[in-house]
This record gives sequence, C-alpha cells and structure tokens, in this order.
Amino acid sequence: MPTKYIFVAGGVMSGIGKGIATASIGRILKSKGFKVTALKIDPYINVDAGTMNPVEHGEVFVTDDGTECDQDVGNYERFLDENIYKDNYMTTGSVYLSVINKERNLEYGGECVSVVPGIPNEVISTIKRAGQKAKADFVLTEIGGTVGEYQNMLFLEAARMMKFQHPKDVLFIMVSYLPIPGMIGEMKTKPTQQAVKNLNEAGIQADMILARAEVALDEPRKKKLAIYCNIHPEDVFSAPDAKSIYEIPINFEQEDIGNKILRKLGLKARTSNLKEWADLVKLIRNNPKEVNIGIVGKYFESGKFTLMDSYISVIESIKHAAFSQNRKANISWISSEEFEKKPESLKELKQYDGIIVPGGFGNRGVEGKIKAIEYCRKNKIPFFGLCLGLQLSVIEYARNVVGIKDATSREFDREAKNPVIDVMQEQKELLKQKHYGGTMRLGAYECHVQDGTISHKAYKDWVGEVKGSYMISERHRHRYEVNNDYKAILQDNGLVIAGVNPKKDLVEIIEVKNHPFFVATQFHPEFKSRPLKPHPLFKEFIKAAIKTTQKISR
Ligand code: GLN
Repeated sequence: MPTKYIFVAGGVMSGIGKGIATASIGRILKSKGFKVTALKIDPYINVDAGTMNPVEHGEVFVTDDGTECDQDVGNYERFLDENIYKDNYMTTGSVYLSVINKERNLEYGGECVSVVPGIPNEVISTIKRAGQKAKADFVLTEIGGTVGEYQNMLFLEAARMMKFQHPKDVLFIMVSYLPIPGMIGEMKTKPTQQAVKNLNEAGIQADMILARAEVALDEPRKKKLAIYCNIHPEDVFSAPDAKSIYEIPINFEQEDIGNKILRKLGLKARTSNLKEWADLVKLIRNNPKEVNIGIVGKYFESGKFTLMDSYISVIESIKHAAFSQNRKANISWISSEEFEKKPESLKELKQYDGIIVPGGFGNRGVEGKIKAIEYCRKNKIPFFGLCLGLQLSVIEYARNVVGIKDATSREFDREAKNPVIDVMQEQKELLKQKHYGGTMRLGAYECHVQDGTISHKAYKDWVGEVKGSYMISERHRHRYEVNNDYKAILQDNGLVIAGVNPKKDLVEIIEVKNHPFFVATQFHPEFKSRPLKPHPLFKEFIKAAIKTTQKISR
C-alpha cells in the first residue's frame, strides 16, 4: 500500500491536546496492524528545543539519536511504543538551516532558491524520509501552533502541496477548541468555524474535526459545525476533557475514528486491538489506592500559574510505574527554594512515600535540593535522583559522608576547589567557543550495570539476562559529569557506583547502601518509560515506596 499521510492542525488556541490526539490516532492505527510513525513541526526559529526555556515551552524531550525536541515527541513514543528519530522533528530554524546548507554546498546547481517551493519541498522530503526510515504505512504530522498564525504558513503550504501531489493518500484533521464562556453558559462553535476558514485560505479543507471542549459535543452543534465547515456530521468528533490522557484512544475509538480514517484513505476497515490499553484505562478509572510521590525541583512558576509541563516525562514515568503496581500516583510539587529559606520545612518530606530530584540547570534552588537529598538519605525515604539529581546526590555524599565540606559542581562555581562534578575537556572547548546548541552529551549511551546492586536487580527483566554484569542503554542530556578524581574516595566511603559508561569511563548510576531505595542516574530514564512497559528503575522505586510506607509509619 502507498504510504498514507495525515496532517493534524490546530484551531482557536494552542495547548488543547493536539499532540495527545495525534498520538492517540497513531495508537489506534497501530492497533489495527499498521506501522505508524509521527512527526512534530514546531514553528520556532530555534533549530531544536534544546535552546528553549522549559518554563515557556515545556520539557525538552531527547530521542535515542540525541535530538532535543518538543515534549509531544515523548507523547508519540509513549503512545506508539516506537522509537522516534531526528527526521521526526522539524522547526522553521532546522528547515531553513538545511536549505541554506544545501545552497552553500551548491546542491541546487546554481538555481535561485525561492522560499516557495524551496522551504515546503524541504519539509515534504523530511516527512517522506521519516516515513521511509520507519517503514511506515501511516505518517502522522502535527503542525504546531494554530492555523492563521504567520509562523506555520509554510508548513501548511507543504501539507497543501502534498495533498495536490498525492490526493488519495493525504488526510487533514483539525483539532479545534469550543469554548463555553461563563457569562453565556453555552458551547460556541464560531471560533472553530473561523479556524476552518483560515485553513481554507491556506488551500486546505479539513476532512475531520476533533472538537475539544470541557464537555461532549451535542448533536445541534455537531450539525452546525458540519454545515459551516463543509464536512459531514459523522466526521465531527467529540473530544471532551478526560481524566487521564490514556483514555483518549479509547474515547476516540468509541466513535470508530480509526475505520473512518481508513475508509477516507481508500482502505478497508479493520478491527482494533486495544485490549491491554483498555485494561490500563479500566485500572485508572477504578481509582486505585495512591502512592504519594514528591518532586523537589524548580521551573514551577510562570506568573500565577504552576507549569508542570517541564517534567512531563518524569510525571508519566511515575504514573506508569504506579499503574504496574495497581496504584495511582499522587504527585506533589515541592519547591526546593523553600528548604533554603526554612530548613525546618524539610520535615514535610516525611509525608511522602518517595522523593524524586529531577534534572535541572543552573544554581537556583540547588542548596535546597541537596538538603532534601540529605534528609531522604538519613531518614531512609525512598529517593530517586535524575541527572542533576545524581550530581547533587554525589555532592551531598561528598560533603556529609566523606567530609569534603566545599564539594560542589563546576556548573555552580567556576573556581571550585573540590569540583566532585566537573566539565569534561571536550565540553570545555565547546563552552569557550559559545557552541551551546545541540552540544551537550545527548542521546543513547551504554551503561555497564554492576552485579549485586539494586539497579542490576531492577534491569534484569528488561535485558532478559540473569547472571553477571550487563549493558543497558539510556538517554542523556547534560554537560557535567562525576569527576573521576573523586571516585575512589567516594567508593572508599561506601558510595556504590552501580553503573559506568565503559567507553568514556563515566559514572552513570550511584546507590547508597542500607537504605530502602537510594538510586540516582546521570542519564534520564524517564525518556524510555512507556505506559504498558514502565521503566525498571521507576518501577523499583515505586515498589520500594509502597513497601516502605507499609512497614514504617513515619
Ligand atoms: N545541569 C547539569 C548538567 O548539565 C544537569 C543537566 C540535567 O539535569 N539534565 O550536567
């Protein structure tokens, strides 16, 4: 069958779950036996998401091949249970950069390179390449932002051109928002009608509309949208708010969206197999017992709003692991700066079953995180450190167990006397030349897991090997590393080095002994957790959290 291309564009406003809608449709098509991949287009000039502030843009997700991309790519990987690569993420910056590089290499053979069709053609070839590499039957492309924005015009133009080139193989889905203004108390369709018109102006007719709203769409509004948007009522889908994002594929399937897509693209209907997914949703809806996890971090506030998007993969990984233990994760946000101002508030950590210190950059709030880590270590609260969380755990151990009182990271103090966390030579050069974009230690690296450790036990199911040390692969995004000059003294004082990258001899996992669970990783395990395949370290952490609370009442 020829590859089918589905474009998903957004109407009215952003942040209404276009990414989850795209990922859900992907999951449904995969469950019908098709090979599916998904791409995200981010209309920013930034060449990748690595240089975007996570408070504004959300988490920077990292793929195996080290692409720093939008968090929606994480949603695709989680829903599709497929790895995604570089070609599946585009920005205005990355597309222009690649066209300019080709021009500089004379690849246009002396032609005058125009914005149109030069840029849309580059977009089209990237989409096709992503499809070919994934050997996909379906390539879903989500165009970021909202139709009518100047920023995504060239991407819509690429989509229009693709439809013109492959009329039978391209489908357009508009995910739009229907507000219910408080003073009117009625669901309004007009903004969506306008959004569809905007899409028409770009030469595109939506084939389907997903109507996002607080509540389900009723029949009169469905009919109204159909008439004004030039679409059949059965192609307007109700997409009300859901309690959990994992309900969305099940909700969509209730309206048979998968088969409607197949028929529109000239394919025969097929049954979906969403059994395991439906079981997961059943578990969520049954309101299982909770496990209380606290995340000690920063990046939480933007004006009056708390933005949790910067840690979305961490949140989802906690949830997946909790589901696997028939629990629901109750996640709380703890600002580390509070511990710096009021050390007596550290006691509050006792109310949690487990504590996570996630990744982060810069020195704001780090002393508070170090205090929280010390508290978890001493009070035997299950603790899981991720990336910066490992670095701060090593600093805490060096200061409070080994006795190196001024131990710190070169990131916080350029002149540090005892940089137990330091920057490697190759990174030093990059920083000197101000080469910041895309130059961290990124993507998948191997890690040798030491026999007899908690991590070794946790990963066993994953690697399918029981005896001896073995290798795993995990994703990275950081510049600083444990300084090997201090490895011996840390180990002599009882710190367990549970994982090491053998090629570069870099510390990847540390553990503390005689503790229910104290594990920290230099990599980001959260990028590899999937709803039905929780990450082994998160799973072991949640298991320990449940067990510890059962045993002691703190
Ligand atoms: N800031 C630290 C580093 O660059 C940790 C990064 C992270 O937590 N992702 O090494």
